[in-house]
Amino acid sequence: MDLEHHLHYMRMATKLAKYALDHDETPVACIFVYTPTNQVVAYGMNDTNRSLTGIAHAEFMGIEQIQAKFGALDTSVFQNIILYVTVEPCIMCASALKQLGIQKVVFGCGNERFGGNGSILKIHQDSSTAPKNKYWSLPGLLRREAIMLLRYFYVRENERSPKPRTKANRKLDLTTFPPMDWSSYLSREDFTNIYGSAFLKFYDNRLDLSEKLDWSLIDNNQDLFFQELQAKCEEFSLQTSKKSKPETVS
Ligand SMILES: [Zn+2]
Repeated sequence: MDLEHHLHYMRMATKLAKYALDHDETPVACIFVYTPTNQVVAYGMNDTNRSLTGIAHAEFMGIEQIQAKFGALDTSVFQNIILYVTVEPCIMCASALKQLGIQKVVFGCGNERFGGNGSILKIHQDSSTAPKNKYWSLPGLLRREAIMLLRYFYVRENERSPKPRTKANRKLDLTTFPPMDWSSYLSREDFTNIYGSAFLKFYDNRLDLSEKLDWSLIDNNQDLFFQELQAKCEEFSLQTSKKSKPETVS
């Protein structure tokens, strides 16, 4: 696996999650990358607070953008799209992504309450629905950054709450992280096939790929990045208006 390649797009998803945080949303965000050309085709941010719609998850926002470009009936483009998302897709989104035939999902931290790519259910590898559309899901990329953005969000929400919890609960933890339980998402064998045997120490010791956080992703303002991202996606739709049929990637 080309880790640096995937990290490049995970950084973009993380910047977008920071943008969401700065604009009063839950910091969960995603980037959809068209793999034949490695171009960003769509993005999504959680929109449940603004829209007051419980299903306005980041993934759905991106799926809508893609369907607006390629039409809703022909879903074949998803075979050539990797989703990079800061938090494991929930059961609903994991199922939608599978129905659409997404190529692969790369994510940061697990979703312990609703996760559909291993934390609660393994929708992506389940044979009972759309068995031909099983997809690989790679967890743990920029996991600590994803967790930290959520912590900022929950501390802020608590401070705004009419009945804030005790001061001790409100304190932002910047240093400790729960162990990364790779085995919830991948067997040891699958992990070795995807990440390589050199990475097995992370699996066996439940370690993050990197102990160090990239604080620039968390601290910096991302308004300009967001504008550039929108422009990139816009550019892609112009190019694809003259598109030929996408090649299938294995
Ligand atoms: Zn979801």
